[in-house]
Amino acid sequence: MKDVFYQKLVEIIDATKVKTNEPLRERTTLHIGGNADYFVLPTKTEEIQKLILLCRNEKMPYFIMGNGSNVLVSDLGYRGLIIYLNEQYGKVDIDKDGFVTAQSGVLLSKLSKSIAAKDYTGFEFAEGIPGTLGGAVTMNAGAYGGEIKDCIVYAKVIDIDGNIIKINKEELLLGYRRSVLQDKKYILLEAGFQFNKGNPGEINKRMLELRKARREKQPLEKFSAGSAFKRPVGYYAGKLISDSGLRGYQIGDIEVSCKHCGFVINNGNGTAKDFLAMLKYIIKTVEDKYDVTLEPEIRLLGDI
Ligand SMILES: Cc1cc2nc3c(=O)[nH]c(=O)nc-3n(C[C@H](O)[C@H](O)[C@H](O)COP(=O)(O)OP(=O)(O)OC[C@H]3O[C@@H](n4cnc5c(N)ncnc54)[C@H](O)[C@@H]3O)c2cc1C
Repeated sequence: MKDVFYQKLVEIIDATKVKTNEPLRERTTLHIGGNADYFVLPTKTEEIQKLILLCRNEKMPYFIMGNGSNVLVSDLGYRGLIIYLNEQYGKVDIDKDGFVTAQSGVLLSKLSKSIAAKDYTGFEFAEGIPGTLGGAVTMNAGAYGGEIKDCIVYAKVIDIDGNIIKINKEELLLGYRRSVLQDKKYILLEAGFQFNKGNPGEINKRMLELRKARREKQPLEKFSAGSAFKRPVGYYAGKLISDSGLRGYQIGDIEVSCKHCGFVINNGNGTAKDFLAMLKYIIKTVEDKYDVTLEPEIRLLGDI
């Protein structure tokens, strides 16, 4: 599909970083979905800016993908451009006062290890979240009592017109799995964090404990997007699903994990259609039984 839009892409970004008909299944932790018409791996901020403006001028839909750990891709794929902000756009700087500046593509596992290696504390919670910083700030990711909101100082973003804006913590409107980035379709370029020195032994111990807890409680050996639903106020989604008798319930190759009912897993050949049917079935069953409406956490991509 080397058409006019492709030619415009390679005027902005090196041709080796531009792909067409790219399988998205391999780019997500759920391993579901079809191909994207166009897929780019920018390494520079000005490339991202130009890509946004190009898409706007050409009326081409675009989607920012980090590590694809919270995305369900349509079985039909995506008719647009995926701007993939992963490790190739993931520089990190940690200064002597504990101020961390990181590009959005850095993986949280790598970022948290780099921060811990300099004996700074406060980011241990993020090590086991299999996403990028971009996805984490957008979703205000959190785990085991910590969240992005606790340590972020500022975010540098691009708005839909291609302008670069620096926004402070308050303006980010970080709440449970939400931020202003979702409302305004901002793209995270970079974020700044402040940490304090900690006890190296305690930092390592905490990280080991959290790793162990995840391995014991979550089906990490299976394809999933983590918790399928947000935590309803006053309840745990996993417990409601389990108490509704859905542990191990299957639709095609999609299954409610027996290890952790909050996780909906793909046993290998699952489809987006079955995944969505499963979400609907779970929502209806829990609603009928407990009068609680579960809200999916996952983002949908493509015509589903
Ligand atoms: C096994 C497992 C465990 C998990 N555990 C947790 C957990 O403990 N806590 C938790 O909060 N989440 C958890 N998750 C969910 C997921 O890892 C997080 O939501 C993560 O922050 C998503 O990051 P990502 O880079 O994969 O984003 P993606 O899945 O690629 O994208 C998610 C959303 O963020 C947007 N986005 C991505 N990058 C950018 C950017 N640079 N600028 C603007 N928007 C962007 C996308 O457009 C999309 O809307 C888990 C997932 C799995 C598979």
